[in-house]
Amino acid sequence: MGINVPFHKPHITDAEIEAVADVMRSGWLTMGPKTVEFEESFRARTGASQAVAVSSATAALHLALVASGVGEGDEVIVPAMTFAASAEVVLYRGATVVMADIERDTHLLDAECIAEKIGPRTRAVMPVHYGGMPCDLDPIMDLARRNGLVVIEDAAHSLPARYRGREVGTIGDLTCFSFYATKTLAAGEGGMITTENADWAERLRSLRLHGIGRDAWKRYSSEGSWAYDVLETGYKYNMTDIAAAIGMEQLRKLDWMNERRADIAAMYDAAFSGNEAFIPYGGRADRSSARHLYPLRLNLEALSIDRARFISELKERGIGASVHFIPLYRFTQYAGMGFNAADYPSCEWVFEREVSLPIYPGMGMTEINSVIEGVLDVAGSFGR
Ligand SMILES: *Cc1c(COP(=O)(O)O)cnc(C)c1O
Repeated sequence: MGINVPFHKPHITDAEIEAVADVMRSGWLTMGPKTVEFEESFRARTGASQAVAVSSATAALHLALVASGVGEGDEVIVPAMTFAASAEVVLYRGATVVMADIERDTHLLDAECIAEKIGPRTRAVMPVHYGGMPCDLDPIMDLARRNGLVVIEDAAHSLPARYRGREVGTIGDLTCFSFYATKTLAAGEGGMITTENADWAERLRSLRLHGIGRDAWKRYSSEGSWAYDVLETGYKYNMTDIAAAIGMEQLRKLDWMNERRADIAAMYDAAFSGNEAFIPYGGRADRSSARHLYPLRLNLEALSIDRARFISELKERGIGASVHFIPLYRFTQYAGMGFNAADYPSCEWVFEREVSLPIYPGMGMTEINSVIEGVLDVAGSFGR
């Protein structure tokens, strides 16, 4: 069998290392000129009119809720199939989490899943672009407009991604990206909020740094002054120039990294399609995915082992795999709030079958072939 293949490896070269060293030598470590440069480049790349850098996507989602006025007494619809961050930020606001089921073949929230959950207190909806595949945003935006809902996209997986010719980051009311170590643009930690609303953007810039008025970070620079004002309760959610320097280098090769991911996904598709051990993931012709994840879906009827065993068999063959996601209602916290698996049949269906395979830009043919051989070997050894 092949070599060991980790689930993920960030694509870090001397360019990132040099960029960080330059920031360290510059004498300005936290939010400053690099962060502003990164925001501007990110804004230009997505075509959004405003981009605000923060410390994580979790911070981005939290501030998006604050800026759009979601608070106590409001309900926010999130897919049950997402990472914990999407829902916890709703609780930060003292608002209520309403979980929706997903579309089975794409693992995405769609307008129908959302419509079922809209009530008099619904204020916002948070479509999560699972694995990098954009949700069907036109019907979602339509539904949201008719019901007066704010659309906050959790785009932690979807840089870069397009929906019907438009870049993700320019479609919803607020879009939140992640630069966490495992994401498609890795800055170690970091996040970005894009919006077309200049007033919200100005408030976001203040909220991310203690609620201080305009250009808070400049107060220690030569053009700044000691005097500042605090406008409201803010947060310590700024990006650092160290992270921004990594982000800048990653942004330069974003398209190349995305092409690499697409190539790997195409090789996996070719190797696994037509094999009765797997159920194809449902792509959509009107969208392009950032390919943060490669979800393999097991046909349990054709296998004698379950998903957990499939992953441990891959591990024995040196292949790192994961699961995206453990549905939120399965966690102690949300089960304690009364959420129940029986209400989410499609999330359960996906959860029992999904295996995320390694997909990262630095994978060579040896790694790709090891994964393919390993997966086919497990499927072949445990058929029924
Ligand atoms: C990673 C992730 C987040 C959180 O991103 P951070 O930058 O780590 O805060 C939010 N939502 C989803 C779907 C994620 O995968």
